[in-house]
Amino acid sequence: MDIHEYQAKEILASFGVPVPRGGLAYSPEQAGYRARELGGNAWVVKAQIHSGGRGEAGGVKLCRTDEEVRDYAATLFGHKLVTKQTDANGKDVYRVWVETASDIQQELYLGFVLDRKSERIMIVASAHGGMEIEDLADEDPDSLRRMVIDPAVGLAEYQARELAFSLGLKDGQIAQMVNVLGACYRAYRDLDAMMVEINPLVITGTGDLVALDAKMSFDTNALYRRPNVAALRDPSQEDPREATAADNGLAYVGLDGDIGCIINGAGLAMATMDMIKLAGGEPANFLDIGGGASPDRVCTAFRTVLSDSNVSVILVNIFAGINRCDWIAKGVIQAYREVGLTLPVVVRLAGTNVEEGRQILRDSGLPITATDTLAEAAEAAVSARDATPAAA
Ligand code: GDP
Ligand code: MN
Repeated sequence: MDIHEYQAKEILASFGVPVPRGGLAYSPEQAGYRARELGGNAWVVKAQIHSGGRGEAGGVKLCRTDEEVRDYAATLFGHKLVTKQTDANGKDVYRVWVETASDIQQELYLGFVLDRKSERIMIVASAHGGMEIEDLADEDPDSLRRMVIDPAVGLAEYQARELAFSLGLKDGQIAQMVNVLGACYRAYRDLDAMMVEINPLVITGTGDLVALDAKMSFDTNALYRRPNVAALRDPSQEDPREATAADNGLAYVGLDGDIGCIINGAGLAMATMDMIKLAGGEPANFLDIGGGASPDRVCTAFRTVLSDSNVSVILVNIFAGINRCDWIAKGVIQAYREVGLTLPVVVRLAGTNVEEGRQILRDSGLPITATDTLAEAAEAAVSARDATPAAA
């Protein structure tokens, strides 16, 4: 789960990372008011969306008067911001962060990620941070410093000092960097984060380190024990299809193809997507209905898949262990009735109560193609797709 920049800054600040003073606004007027409240004569106004790359996309601006803050905020609110990290639709701006502008001497990059190879938290850092960090990672990967943290020891101070030195920091900045690194590490570990990123971490005119941007994402499976983190969720920033599916206990990921998939088990869902591709088709989604799916849950799965207008055929593939094929079949029929389904449906059932399930489908008289194997199902779905006139 991702959170907003201002939320990440608040969390990191509570662990001891220095951040600029700022305030949140839900309207242009409030943004102008925040600027006056903060005082000074330069502010940075920043669109709060779950994406980086806002600077290049026009979502971050240095303003010199509170009217300018208000007017620029007015151009952000109610609009979608498209960055190179969002899809072509972009993300809605409902919140704007106004902060005291910082005097930047140098921009560093600092990231904490989970390194799957060493199975440990790894620090990635660079003396050349800012907006071109991705290019740098591609063009000159050796310029990135990496350091793995032993979970039994935690981040040792000598390691943090070594990293600070390797980034070319001097004197008092070393101690400040050790402090920032320790704070980020504790925030990551104590809150079950998956990623903490400060880009840029700047050296100001007075030689101090300040986190100018911050990003955190969290392990969804650990949210049950982090209610304070879970409360930071912002559904307006999520794919509505994925959010609705998650609320209904379905694991759904939208994709670009036109064959809608309803499958039980993540592994079987992956295998089915492979088989669809092998048969010359493109899956419209990944969807795992999970174990013990009731007819209602199957019906909800149909609704979710059909909310994607690109879908021209639905492939149901169930290998029932905990599930029951007769329930799945009832769910398919319920979906025909309740959702007013008109698209072709291909169903492959195997496992618990498979004969009952097949019988229910046959007795329904509905135009359902039933197959025995996954390969046949994938081929049937692709031919059904080819036979359907392309959606306008
Ligand atoms: P991102 O593009 O979404 O990663 O947004 P950032 O918060 O990183 O801002 C993008 C860029 O705006 C930064 O790399 C800075 O160069 C610039 N910026 C952000 N805050 C300030 C500030 O307080 N003062 C100045 N001069 N530039 C800033
Ligand atoms: Mn940034």
